[in-house]
Amino acid sequence: MRAARLYDYDPEMNVELKIEDVPPPTINKPDEVVVKVGAAGLCRTDLHIIEGVWKDIMDVEGALLPYIMGHENAGWVEDVGSGVTSVKPGDAVICHPHRSCGICLNCRYGEDMHCEAGLFPGLGLDGGFADYFITNERALIKLNPNVTPLEVAPMADAGITAYRAAKRAAKLLRPGAYCVLVGIGGLGHIALQSLQAISGCRTIAVDREPAAQKLAKDLGADYVLDGGPDAAEQIMEITGGGAQVVMDFVGELGVENECWKMVRQGGQMFVIGYGGKIEVPTVHLVIQEINIGGSLVGNFTELVELMELNADGKVKMHYSEYKLGDINKAIDDFKNRRFAGRGVLVP
Ligand SMILES: [Zn+2]
Ligand SMILES: [Zn+2]
Repeated sequence: MRAARLYDYDPEMNVELKIEDVPPPTINKPDEVVVKVGAAGLCRTDLHIIEGVWKDIMDVEGALLPYIMGHENAGWVEDVGSGVTSVKPGDAVICHPHRSCGICLNCRYGEDMHCEAGLFPGLGLDGGFADYFITNERALIKLNPNVTPLEVAPMADAGITAYRAAKRAAKLLRPGAYCVLVGIGGLGHIALQSLQAISGCRTIAVDREPAAQKLAKDLGADYVLDGGPDAAEQIMEITGGGAQVVMDFVGELGVENECWKMVRQGGQMFVIGYGGKIEVPTVHLVIQEINIGGSLVGNFTELVELMELNADGKVKMHYSEYKLGDINKAIDDFKNRRFAGRGVLVP
């Protein structure tokens, strides 16, 4: 099969993925499922993988290179292990990105991302930038009949990451409260729609890119700001003292240290994008009583909920389609923000 493999890390990102012919994955365990990839989302995490951000966490000394990236996968079941009962070849499915075990206590609490024995294909082991992809039965959600893999693939990770954060935010947001979303890319535009579907709050979208601002307006954000140096001041003015929740989908490039300044006393900042470093005077935390915390992907049931919102037309993924063979162009376009929404690779 064809696959795009990473051979080397480079903080400057001057490396290209190699498109190669490799053996397709084969079933080795009774709960495994081979999926014919219909589409795979391109994620900022993929850029961070290439930069080597994950090197020491997942891949000591590069021992696992080369591997196939791609962790936002949807497609059709191709082959199933002997113990698989809930899906059969031909079923259209979206793949939760974490192959969780189902046995450990965290799995039993429903927190798939906290699984003690989980695997994350596409990050340190083969993922979905290929014709075929292997995962386990527990990771699969059958698609609603009116939905195609191409329309939803990035929801496997970008989508639930945004949805989980929006769901946590919605619990803190009464009608009349403000939520700021910084970065209206692949995640931000899903969080915006999710908030509109599950919360009565007012939304303020912030992004420097005109295409992203337009997307936020088209999706019905109450306010759209261009993210200039006075963004925090503008938000103080609009909200009369700060937003109850600020969601940072960027998490680097200095944005992370603008976001906490936008939070109202007693409010919450969710860190979803990453790569930078937050520095907050402790006295500010005390006087303002703000909370700052991360949000990691999402669990299986959150992906089920998001698929229902999608099937009902309430949360849609905006995407640009690329052929798998053009993956290096897709990565370059992504780095330079030449498309709004999400880039999606199609084998
Ligand atoms: Zn991702
Ligand atoms: Zn587990």
